[in-house]
Amino acid sequence: RDPNVKKPGWLRQKGPQGEKYEEVKESLSRLKLNTVCEEAQCPNIGECWNGGGDGVATATIMLLGDTCTRGCRFCAVKTSRNPPPPDPMEPYNTAEAIASWGVDYIVLTSVDRDDIPDGGSGHFAETVRAMKILKPDIMVECLTSDFRGDLKAVSTLVHSGLDVFAHNVETVRRLQRIVRDPRAGDSDTSISQFQHSAMSCLLWYEQSLSVLKHAKVSKKGMITKSSIMLGLGETDDELKEAMADLRAIDVDILTLGQYLQPTPLHLTVKEYVTPEKFAFWKDYGESIGFRYVASGPLVRSSYRAGELFVKTMVK
Ligand code: SF4
Ligand code: SF4
Repeated sequence: RDPNVKKPGWLRQKGPQGEKYEEVKESLSRLKLNTVCEEAQCPNIGECWNGGGDGVATATIMLLGDTCTRGCRFCAVKTSRNPPPPDPMEPYNTAEAIASWGVDYIVLTSVDRDDIPDGGSGHFAETVRAMKILKPDIMVECLTSDFRGDLKAVSTLVHSGLDVFAHNVETVRRLQRIVRDPRAGDSDTSISQFQHSAMSCLLWYEQSLSVLKHAKVSKKGMITKSSIMLGLGETDDELKEAMADLRAIDVDILTLGQYLQPTPLHLTVKEYVTPEKFAFWKDYGESIGFRYVASGPLVRSSYRAGELFVKTMVK
């Protein structure tokens, strides 16, 4: 963290508790499912697993392993050029475990797998299909990579039966290169060829917008969602521009949360945005047409995702 920027009290976390939380936790250890919620020690675990006011319990599962082919400067996930191949049984084992588990809404996410031809889209799609067969009433959100802009991979996933397609632009246009790929343009041979090729196609930001747009137009009624971290040095005008860009491609749901530096090696926090300012951005976002905006210091992309989806659908 920037030594001049002190962490404020509103980021202190309460310990999780609650009846449904206990139930979900107990079944998790029985099923040996790894959730991002637990592994990332997410501060929202109590709220998400209890299902907030509406009782829609949400959890996030990571597919395709724990090693990413990219190295974003805000993320503490392990990286490698050649992660182990995905487990071909993962879609079925995950679906089976989730079907017998007490959650109503599941967020499937993954590391970026630029080493796999379709970026893992087929693996995601198979997991969704298996899950919907075993538990038809479960709601599924997929929080995906940009698939290196491969729109065929986006279509594969969109037509798998998922309820929400989520992809995060992460930050405003100007900060993309700093935040999402620090090594762009240098000649360091440790950069994977995939990162180079991704960089040489399109800028990250445009690529992300094209993925979200394609998800929206390729299936009637598809709900799309994105997320932006605040506190990385973006200006209000830049944030308004990013929100307008997302609205222009009809993104339905937006989440805004405070960036927190995971280790001293990661990007420093430039600003701790106040809860009042987050409330302002929620109102602003909904005034320009988002169907729902979740905005707060501890909000994460999958924060109370089930509840948000239900609220979005009744609006
Ligand atoms: Fe982390 Fe995703 Fe970036 Fe990989 S692509 S380093 S998982 S944020
Ligand atoms: Fe899990 Fe996401 Fe909720 Fe955190 S915000 S507890 S990762 S569902």
